[in-house]
Amino acid sequence: MVGVPEGDTVWLAAKRMNTALAGATLRRGEFRLPQLAALDLTGATVREVVPRGKHMLIRLADERTLRTHYRMDGSWHIYRPGTTWRGGPAYDVRVVLATDEWECVGYRLHDVEIVPTDDENRLVGHLGPDVLGPDWDLAEALRRLRSHPDEQVGVAILDQRNLAGPGNLYKVESLFLCGIHPWARVADVDGKLEAVVTRARTLMLANRDHPEQSTTGNLRRGQDHWVYGRKGKPCRRCGTPILMGEQGPEPQARVTYWCPRCQATDSPVDPLARTGEPGRPRPLATPG
Ligand SMILES: [Zn+2]
Repeated sequence: MVGVPEGDTVWLAAKRMNTALAGATLRRGEFRLPQLAALDLTGATVREVVPRGKHMLIRLADERTLRTHYRMDGSWHIYRPGTTWRGGPAYDVRVVLATDEWECVGYRLHDVEIVPTDDENRLVGHLGPDVLGPDWDLAEALRRLRSHPDEQVGVAILDQRNLAGPGNLYKVESLFLCGIHPWARVADVDGKLEAVVTRARTLMLANRDHPEQSTTGNLRRGQDHWVYGRKGKPCRRCGTPILMGEQGPEPQARVTYWCPRCQATDSPVDPLARTGEPGRPRPLATPG
């Protein structure tokens, strides 16, 4: 199953890219992007490849860093020379980094940029603590979340300035597992914030070494999620049909799933929250 590009997807991809490229010299380093078409990294040596939230940083020995981002649809594929590239049509290829042993092909990559390594912070300095990073800082992530008390919790967890790495899948699933309504205000679920952040991190740690993204412990398709992608299907805990709605400011609104019973809220949810049909205002929700 094709995973949703989230922090764990990028973590695994960076690990594989690092294995393929670290210490090697590029015999081909081409960019099929208008703004970088003149850039040629042939002859450059790769120092290391590291993930930072959902960004991948490819650091070169000459103190430059190439940053790429998957957004919704990007991916890196690694091939042996001479094998067929199967990541999509040729016009989707954005970057090719090849050594004598490997061909790394970036499809539909976004935010491709090269900067001096000393200036990396210009690209990723805004990010909150990295959920899968060696310098993960739970207290700082909670501090950042709590600095937006009126934000919907489902929006706040996705904001990479609060914590870097989680995407929509882990947001949806960890909110369910902690019994939190996605539209609840951060301030109204303060006592559960640490639990939901810790849960998201645990789920990502459990999935980072393989491409599947299971939150139930079951890798079988259709059994791998609690509520994500299960609109109208019975909740695995209480049998209530799972609801689906769009959450977040345009144009980054994301589809959210929740169980109205397991994730009932004692406090009013944001009256501007939309559910069901996109654009249809939702009245103040009543508990349950
Ligand atoms: Zn339920």
